[in-house]
Amino acid sequence: VRVRIVGAGVSGLTCAARLLESGYDVEIWAAARSPNIVSAVAAALWYPLRRDFDSSHSLRRLAFSYVRFTALAAEPATGVMLRDGVELFRDGEPEPGWWSGEPSYARGVFGEGIAAFEWRALPVVEMPVYLDWLEAEVRTRGVRVETRAAGTLDDALTGADVVVNCAGLGARALAGDETLQPVRGQVVRVANPGIDRFILDEQNPAGPAYVIPRAHDVVCGGTREAGDESTDVREEASRAILARCVELEPRLRGAPVVSQAAGLRPARARVRLEAEPRGSKLVVHDYGHSGSGVTLSWGCAEDVAELVEAWVAARVRG
Ligand SMILES: Cc1cc2nc3c(=O)[nH]c(=O)nc-3n(C[C@H](O)[C@H](O)[C@H](O)COP(=O)(O)OP(=O)(O)OC[C@H]3O[C@@H](n4cnc5c(N)ncnc54)[C@H](O)[C@@H]3O)c2cc1C
Repeated sequence: VRVRIVGAGVSGLTCAARLLESGYDVEIWAAARSPNIVSAVAAALWYPLRRDFDSSHSLRRLAFSYVRFTALAAEPATGVMLRDGVELFRDGEPEPGWWSGEPSYARGVFGEGIAAFEWRALPVVEMPVYLDWLEAEVRTRGVRVETRAAGTLDDALTGADVVVNCAGLGARALAGDETLQPVRGQVVRVANPGIDRFILDEQNPAGPAYVIPRAHDVVCGGTREAGDESTDVREEASRAILARCVELEPRLRGAPVVSQAAGLRPARARVRLEAEPRGSKLVVHDYGHSGSGVTLSWGCAEDVAELVEAWVAARVRG
């Protein structure tokens, strides 16, 4: 079975790795690759986002990703590490018991009385390192990666039995999906002054704020600008991000800025993960992961593999 994956972001590369495990012949077409894609901008924390939990997150998808990333963290070359940290709730905590998966959290308080969850050992994925590692890994195992844009899904199906559409925001044009919208996010990366705990403060009245320490730097975020298509870095936004982050973690004050970036989250009411048979061939869509593409990557790749396997089994029977 010849599988062509459209996209070399975290979704496409993870699907390639997973479909290789099922023994398929895999090729990737990607219009752009890391670092010029949103996957390379992601902070990136594996994290069960309460807001999206019922739509796209599921314990199953989260668990598949968590198990994979936890295993990958044992190998430093992957760029995956495990970090403790806190999630703040200024508008009130989620209802008790909403999260019954692994890992667990403990209730706590941040600063002067802000309710917080204390998370233990969540995966932090240093995306440029991880994407390079993952691409090298799948190439070594026989995946061909072509820098090439697919004009249409039928174009991508030429010479393939199955196309997996991991085009991110590119699926607006490729699948004609107008419900997909960009949500711009900007980050500032500063030299790490010795921080090893993350802080998430999504309900900060001045704007979303998060501090994600990686191996040598700290990703400070962020913004969430729906419908904004620009990936230009805005200095004013960077200053505001740093001010919010310094308030959360005073050791960041004066830390040298290493780099800045902006990316467009491929936002959709829910992830589109479904099979679309086309004649004797198959398209599987896997896009629209909004702000959780890394978190969902291995879980969604598992769902994609199951859809392909079911289609192959039906073809063999028929
Ligand atoms: C500031 C910021 C912080 C974030 N933090 C986190 C986080 O902490 N945790 C988390 O889980 N997520 C986070 N995200 C979200 C995450 O970045 C995205 O959900 C994820 O990267 C989407 O990955 P993707 O592979 O689906 O899309 P992309 O990375 O956009 O990849 C799409 C690929 O498809 C290719 N493509 C598109 N159209 C075509 C075509 N016609 N032909 C060929 N190729 C095509 C592109 O060139 C690219 O290779 C963050 C995002 C931002 C902006």
